[in-house]
Amino acid sequence: MSGFFSEKFNRLTPYTPGEQPKERTYIKLNTNESPFPPSPKAQKYASDAIAKTMLYSDPQCTKLRQALANQYGTTEDCVICGNGSDDILNFAFSAFCDTKTPAVFADVTYGFYPVFSEYNRVPYRIIPLKEDFSISPQEYYNAGGTVFIANPNAPTGIALTRDEIEEIIKNNENNVVVIDEAYVDFGAESCVPLIKKYKNLLITQTFSKSRSLAGARLGFGIADPSLINDLNTVRYSINPYNVNSITQAAGVGSLEDQKYTDENCEKIKKTRQKTAKRLKKLGFYVTDSCANFIFAKHETIPGGQIYLKLRQHGILVRHFDAPRIADFNRITVGDEEQMNALIKALAQITGRQI
Ligand code: PMP
Repeated sequence: MSGFFSEKFNRLTPYTPGEQPKERTYIKLNTNESPFPPSPKAQKYASDAIAKTMLYSDPQCTKLRQALANQYGTTEDCVICGNGSDDILNFAFSAFCDTKTPAVFADVTYGFYPVFSEYNRVPYRIIPLKEDFSISPQEYYNAGGTVFIANPNAPTGIALTRDEIEEIIKNNENNVVVIDEAYVDFGAESCVPLIKKYKNLLITQTFSKSRSLAGARLGFGIADPSLINDLNTVRYSINPYNVNSITQAAGVGSLEDQKYTDENCEKIKKTRQKTAKRLKKLGFYVTDSCANFIFAKHETIPGGQIYLKLRQHGILVRHFDAPRIADFNRITVGDEEQMNALIKALAQITGRQI
């Protein structure tokens, strides 16, 4: 620390992103990226947009918001775009939490939630997941703060149904409920249809996973226009040009190639099912994941050891050395070839056959 760093950040422990190593070529199954390239139109529109980068990007993301509204059966005033969905989540912590309105979220969930709380200097209340890592919806009724639920949850992959979430929204009418749907395209029910009914619901989604655009940094929020206006007040107070023009163009291209995304999601779902079955044969317990990752724990070998051994085999997975989950690893579902390499390495590590 420099000695100049503001005291307001005394307690801030920043988020630790998954490794992006340069020293050798790993099979990267540690940051839930897509194994497939961006769609053809996403690539074409992005490269066409480079020639116009002497101009600022459109702060309203007009074309992109129109395309999103069209895709999700809503209107443009219900949509906000961000530099990844992390951007929108940060705006939400800033806009909808304060000392009287804490953030409320699970103990085992997206690691950025406590960081955003600290960064925005708002208190938070933790609701532990059940023993089996599922969420008990009733524990979120009348939460007394702004609720943040990742659905499917990360790193567990377990999802609530739309009906269960609707009950949480109904039972928090004086507070905002934020549903982080970063992984929803891989098999959970989206709550987007509920935004017409509830003025206290904000959905966040991302182009980083199902749409293969993690490096372009594009996310969005969908909610009643009143919530979107609040988020825009924060956004315009920080950086109105938070989504660059190349990324906006890529996003429009991706939405025009919807079939490409749908097909890739189907492939991931099939590969997830097959990989989970094979992992079980090798002695792993896996949660019932609806996401593009599998959360797996071996019956005898500690999680940290599996992580290190896989690394020696040139395969990166994500290990969180945190209470309750230290025995697990989060493994991104890649393509068939990557998963075959994973299973082959794990067969050696566990000394078992599949
Ligand atoms: N929510 C969850 C649950 C995530 O795992 C991630 C990815 N790290 C994000 C949001 C943010 O993703 P992005 O900023 O790339 O949209």
